Amino acid sequence: MSNQSLIPATLIPGDGIGPEIVGATIEILDAIQAPFKWDRQLAGMAGVDASGDPLPQSTIESIHKTGLVLKGPLTTPVGKGYRSINVTLRREFGLYANVRPTKTLIKGGRFDNIDIVVVRENLEGFYAAMENHIPVDNDLKAIATCAGYTSRKECRRIVKFAFDYAVQNNRKKVTLVHKANILKELCGLFLEEGRKVAKEYEGKIACEERIVDACSMELVIKPETYDVIVTTNLFGDILSDLTSGLTGGLGLAPGANIGEKAAMFEAVHGSAPDIAGKNCANPIAVLRAATLMLKHVKRDDLAKRIDKAIHKVVVEDKIRTRDLGGNVTTKEITAALKQAV
Ligand code: NAD
Repeated sequence: MSNQSLIPATLIPGDGIGPEIVGATIEILDAIQAPFKWDRQLAGMAGVDASGDPLPQSTIESIHKTGLVLKGPLTTPVGKGYRSINVTLRREFGLYANVRPTKTLIKGGRFDNIDIVVVRENLEGFYAAMENHIPVDNDLKAIATCAGYTSRKECRRIVKFAFDYAVQNNRKKVTLVHKANILKELCGLFLEEGRKVAKEYEGKIACEERIVDACSMELVIKPETYDVIVTTNLFGDILSDLTSGLTGGLGLAPGANIGEKAAMFEAVHGSAPDIAGKNCANPIAVLRAATLMLKHVKRDDLAKRIDKAIHKVVVEDKIRTRDLGGNVTTKEITAALKQAV
């Protein structure tokens, strides 16, 4: 392929298991001559180690130029330390829709027909919140506060995104998930706008409503009744981990962060420090994120080749990493995928 027909894209290997699984994914993308010209950049702890900055200016500039990112997981210190770079990147580039598809791969588990897409609002809610710690002399009486917000504009935009996604992907139903019975304003606005948007798709896409606690219960009892879920930031983060757990765990679950000017693709999981450097991480979540990226640039043909290879290796040949009950290494499954693709 000539250099001119390549699509510029930013590559962030990430922290922990990131470099291992992103490296594996690049090997497989190279094997099918995926049309990307990578600009490698750092972020997270890797950025701190190299330059003291978890989000270096060169990384921001690269994403502004390419508008397309494949990203490994980034470590966020718990409690103290810098704020999540993932959240910062989503805000900096207006990546308002987080799309997290999850589908049964290995049959014979509790459920064989799960095919759910969680569409999560990515910019507002409690993740954009003003948090405060109010110390008092008697530490037992200290208070922490958190004020989240939602805007009518974003509520409308994310629900519309979910319905358009449903139309474009031959889906039948969208479920609005909320907690408007308690968070009457924060979630009430989402539900109100969601209902308006649903009306515009009447006759084309069915719409249901669920309170998030009832939805969680139904997701573990009858997940096959769900199709597309659209919800606010915090609930979407939690429910998408739940749905990925139903279909084989975090090692298989990809996510896309879509904005009007940029799109970023990554695994749902984090940097897994407990297994970093041990050659046992499952590269499939990031690989599947790359297939979403290929579809985004209209190379469904290449995405299908990777999906088929994953099926052949994991389902037919039962070549599986530890998280899927197998014992092959990251390198071994990567070699098998490269061969199958
Ligand atoms: P995690 O997702 O990193 O790990 C949870 C569990 O799943 C661990 O036992 C881990 O070993 C396992 N796991 C995750 N990915 C795996 C894979 N590919 N193969 C096999 N096993 C895998 O969650 P955590 O431990 O809560 O978070 C670790 C760090 O990652 C934190 O700093 C967190 O903030 C960050 N994080 C980043 C992102 C992101 O970059 N998008 C997302 C979530 C968490």
